[in-house]
Order: sequence, then structure tokens, then C-alpha cells
Amino acid sequence: MNRSALRAPMRRRRTLVAGGAGFLGSHLCDRLVDRGDEVLCVDDFSSGRQHNIAHLQRRMNFRSYHHDISRALPPRLQGPVDEVYNLACPASPPRYQRNPVQTARTNALGTLNLLELAQRHGARLFQASTSEVYGDPLEHPQSESCWGHVNPIGPRACYDEGKRFAETLCFDHHRQYGQAIKVARIFNTYGPRMQADDGRVVSNFIVQALCDEPITLYGNGLQTRSFCFVDDLIDGILALMASADDVSGPVNLGSPLECTVVDLAQRIITLTGSTSALQLQPLPLDSPQRRQPDIALARALLDWAPKVALDDGLSATIEYFQPCAATPP
Ligand code: NAD
Ligand code: UDP
Repeated sequence: MNRSALRAPMRRRRTLVAGGAGFLGSHLCDRLVDRGDEVLCVDDFSSGRQHNIAHLQRRMNFRSYHHDISRALPPRLQGPVDEVYNLACPASPPRYQRNPVQTARTNALGTLNLLELAQRHGARLFQASTSEVYGDPLEHPQSESCWGHVNPIGPRACYDEGKRFAETLCFDHHRQYGQAIKVARIFNTYGPRMQADDGRVVSNFIVQALCDEPITLYGNGLQTRSFCFVDDLIDGILALMASADDVSGPVNLGSPLECTVVDLAQRIITLTGSTSALQLQPLPLDSPQRRQPDIALARALLDWAPKVALDDGLSATIEYFQPCAATPP
């Protein structure tokens, strides 16, 4: 062994996860901690929870920081960083519309702050973008070449346009400064650690079914989404971050199995053995009618496709929510 190798012990990979206390972020932190990274979770706990990361606080290689990424990153976060994952942003429509200006700030200023941090340290940056950049899509299924059909002044725009601008910032940093970026357009993902009162369709339906309460079907229920189980999605995120230098994305990550919302409701009623009835409610403004990813690019570049069948993923999620339905968190 040479002398410099003796003097300079290998340090752990240092990885910052913004939004690490949220649904997806906490699952990502689990995987990064398990693979041995020193993980810095940065979260303002606006839609995330301490509960999601409580089990990680005992691990030597995990630390969490309460901070809003739209504000300058604090000095205590100084030190080398090798990978930055930006998942900070509420994802449920009721949550991101509750404080739309803060949602827009998070996507614009927060993404800029993280890009500048990544640039200072020569770190790769993963950006959690979304199928919402396609808006109410004019093409079906949606491939990465679609430019999107978004109402820029509607109630969803703080999120949709915020994420579109965040993509723009990523690609401009890439072109102007050579920043290594990995942009994923994530389609509806579900699983344990969604919040019971989060407002998204899978958590709403499961909690309603477990409590034998009416299932709130917005519109006629014939609108579609494609639901990906969280473990599959995290595999896709890690594969994209580890991909070759010339892969920047955007890459769709999601399940290609298109499902109507009423079909989802019926599956959940069957899996829970619920007596719930369907209750029609008005469709929220600008809610997209159809959503299905074309994942040919993810298959080709990352050798990735979801593996968990919808009913299996729903069963695991129902199991997680069973105690929550008895005592809402
Ligand atoms: P989530 O709301 O559970 O998690 C978001 C996390 O970000 C929370 O912990 C929240 O407290 C934190 N956060 C929000 N604003 C912040 C800020 N300014 N500073 C620091 N932390 C902040 O949502 P999720 O489902 O885990 O989504 C994670 C990311 O993935 C989001 O960026 C979302 O847009 C994206 N995404 C998710 C889905 C999905 O179906 N889950 C689909 C497409 C895209
Ligand atoms: N939805 C529903 N009932 C609910 C919540 C949502 O019918 O209690 C519908 C919603 O109108 C949309 C789909 O389910 O068509 C997915 O909604 P979600 O809020 O989960 O995510 P979106 O993909 O719209 O951001």
C-alpha cells in the first residue's frame, strides 16, 4: 500500500437529500444510509414528518437539518458534498396549493440554491421533476419529448410551472456551467409513509375504505393515472443518479399500467373488504384527464421498469395505514 493511501482514509460519500423527511425522501434516505453514505437530510417539515426519519436518527451516518431550501443554506451544512437529491416540495395538490407562493419559491429559489451548492462542490444533482410538467397532456402516453399543456395561471401552476422552471434552471446550469444533472419526471407514486390526511388519491381511498366511509370520487372517476410503488421508484432514482455522465434526462419514472380512478377505488374496496360506497364529488380545476408514462427511455438507459404489481403494492400500503385508520396520526 502506498503512503498517501495510508494518510488519507477513504471518506464516506456525502449525500444531501432535500425533502428527506417526506414520503419519497425518507425511503431514499433509508437506502442511502444502508449503502453507507453520510446522509444530510434537509427539510422544513412543511409536509414531511419527524416520524418518517425517527428510525434513522439512531444511525451514525444520518443527520437531519430543519431548513427551508428557498433560503440561503446555513453554514452548518458546509463541507464536501458528492451527491444532491432535490425532493423538497409538497406533492399533494391540497398541500402545494395551501401556500402557492411558497411552493413557487421552493421550486425556483430552492432549486437554485441546491444547484449552486452542487456546483461549488462538483456534486451531481438529482431533480425530482414530475409528470405534471405535461399538464393535461395532448399526447398519450407521455414521452419525454412532449412539451406539455399547462395552464400557467391556474391553481396547479405553482407546482406545474414551478417544476417546469426548476427543470429550466437545471438545464441552464448544465449548459452554462457544465453542472452534472439527473432530471426524473416522476409519475404518481404511492406506498407506506404517505400521510393519512395528505389528500392524494391512494391515501384518501385507503383511509376511507378502512374506516368504511364514502370513497370520494372526483368527477366521473374515468380519469386515469398510472401508480408506481415507492420501492420501484427509489430503484429508478438511484439508477438514474448512477447513470453515465452524459445522461441528464429528463427521464420518465413511473408505472406504465394506466388505471382509472374508479378502478383504483374498486381494487381498494376489494383488498380492504370495505363496505364503503362511492361518493361523486366535483373534479378539481385543471386536473389532468389521462396520465401514462412512456418508459422506453428508462428501460433503455437504466434497464429500469417497475416490478411490484398494483394489488401487491396496495396491500403493503393498506397494511401500513391500518393502525393510522384506527388512530389518525
Ligand atoms: P412530500 O410532501 O411527502 O415530501 C416533500 C418534502 O419536502 C417534505 O418532507 C417537505 O417537508 C419538504 N419540503 C417542502 N418544501 C420545502 C422547503 N422549502 N425546504 C425544505 N424542505 C421542504 O412529497 P413526496 O411525495 O415525497 O414528493 C417528493 C418529491 O417528489 C417532490 O419534489 C415531488 O414534487 C416529487 N414527485 C412526487 C410524486 C409522487 O407521486 N409522490 C410524483 C411526482 C413528483
Ligand atoms: N382523486 C379522487 N378522489 C380523491 C383524491 C383524488 O378522485 O379523494 C382523483 C383526482 O381528481 C385525480 C386523481 O385522483 O384525478 C389523482 O389525484 P391526486 O391528487 O392523487 O394526484 P394528481 O395526479 O392529480 O396530482
